Amino acid sequence: MENLSTKDIVKKYGFKFSKSLGQNFLIDDSVLQDIVDNANVNKDDLVIEIGPGVGTLTKELLKKAKKVYAIELDSDLIPILNEELKEFDNFELIHKDALKTDFNELIGTENSTKVVANLPYYVTTPIISKLLKENYKFESLTIMIQKEVGERIAAKPSTKEYGALSILVQYYCDVEIVRKVSSDSFIPRPKVDSIVIKLNKLSEPKVKVKNEELFFKIVRSSFNMRRKTLWNGLKSIGLNKEQLEMAFTNAGIDSKRRGETLSLDEFGKLSDSIYDLQ
Ligand code: SAM
Repeated sequence: MENLSTKDIVKKYGFKFSKSLGQNFLIDDSVLQDIVDNANVNKDDLVIEIGPGVGTLTKELLKKAKKVYAIELDSDLIPILNEELKEFDNFELIHKDALKTDFNELIGTENSTKVVANLPYYVTTPIISKLLKENYKFESLTIMIQKEVGERIAAKPSTKEYGALSILVQYYCDVEIVRKVSSDSFIPRPKVDSIVIKLNKLSEPKVKVKNEELFFKIVRSSFNMRRKTLWNGLKSIGLNKEQLEMAFTNAGIDSKRRGETLSLDEFGKLSDSIYDLQ
């Protein structure tokens, strides 16, 4: 089997890139290797890849994993992938929108599942939210995303990158930055730089809260108006003035602080004391 590069395959099939599907294919072998090495895939693993493109990353994953499910939305890529990866009997292509896929149906009874992807920029945040919030049984998520989004995910309190996305991801995962990737590593070349990050799913969320839905609602409300105090952000959370004052006192948090200064732990305390007074 000849070893064609990403560019060769694109040329062989006269493939036309779709901007609206976020198609920027990887052409840099060192990045490919770093993704595969850090995903730490072995023969016991089921790998789910989102957006295989022409199969550049998929092929490397197939050599290491027990099985790879690749979820691809673009109909034009389906025959290309089937042809280019036909030598692998551990490959299964799923022609579907990743946002409409039930990952637990794919995972079934597997006990070691790793998600790996060079994600299309336009759906990065919805895919990450879906994967974390829908309670799927995977171990880790090794993903290439836009650099700015990666920095927001890894951000610490009191930085300008810190926000609801940082809290969402850090609530469920330990975040590891693997490497930065220049826009020259893709065809076509995107306007932004990228970053590879690894999210290691925790066995239990980082903080224990009485009501998860309320916790995330409080986080979102606190960051909605970034420069306002917590008091202003949470006025409409459903407590009267005295109760809200009480909630801040019980949590030991000054209501004049801004949301962006609160740690995950502090958001947890505030959420629980609001819950107790509802
Ligand atoms: N993995 C390839 C690589 O590294 O070269 C391609 C990565 S490219 C950034 C993103 C891929 O995701 C494209 O193949 C695109 O067609 C696919 N895609 C876009 N939206 C999708 C969706 N909602 N569900 C599944 N795949 C999607």
